[in-house]
Amino acid sequence: MHRRSFIQKSGLSGLGLALIPSIFSFQDIEYSVLELMGKANIDLYGNGYQMRKEAQEAFEAMRKAAYGAGIDIKPVSSFRSFARQAAIFERKYERYAIEDGMKPLDAIDKIIEYSTIPGTSRHHWGTDIDLIDGSKKVSGDVLVSEKFEAGGPFEDFKLWMDENSKKFDYYLVYTDNPKRRGFKYEPWHYSYAPLSIPMLAAFRRKNILQLLEQEEFLGSEHFTTGFIKTYIQDNILDINPELL
Ligand SMILES: [Zn+2]
Repeated sequence: MHRRSFIQKSGLSGLGLALIPSIFSFQDIEYSVLELMGKANIDLYGNGYQMRKEAQEAFEAMRKAAYGAGIDIKPVSSFRSFARQAAIFERKYERYAIEDGMKPLDAIDKIIEYSTIPGTSRHHWGTDIDLIDGSKKVSGDVLVSEKFEAGGPFEDFKLWMDENSKKFDYYLVYTDNPKRRGFKYEPWHYSYAPLSIPMLAAFRRKNILQLLEQEEFLGSEHFTTGFIKTYIQDNILDINPELL
């Protein structure tokens, strides 16, 4: 349906189709700022996790296929509201800047190695999910990249996902490309591309800088315009190019 509307707009020209930057980008739906920033009540689906319907259905199909191969895909985190992300950010800010006595900007830089500034998390969209293999016994934190490497408990999960996740339109966001800036490598964070690509495109059409400058939470008083611009470039946009 979306593809048809794109073709109509491009005047049925082969040239128009050749300009499509990505195989999913014909879904040029508009999303509200509230929806993109985790502040809207959206319909969510899933047993023990929460995602948009299409993403949830594709996830269940992927989970079923993996189960047949001996991998028990388990969601650790899925949809997250603005309020939830703000609580995570503030808890970390408190720990680093207040308890550990780090300088505010150093504390913020440490937070954004793995955690987003509230309002900018892809988990706000209901399209992204953090996954592990629930059949493996693990001690300590589960979302640690070494656990997904050779010899680690989630090695088989990662190999299966590398081979199969794209068949279900799920892509890693924060890849291990050493040239990538922004968030560190997250072998657990997957995104449902048919929805998250148009959502990122919609988010980019908003004035993200202005939106972030309006927000107030612990630590946000230290955000400068330059910091936010770099954050948008590195942390929001320097991701797996297949998701742009
Ligand atoms: Zn994540």
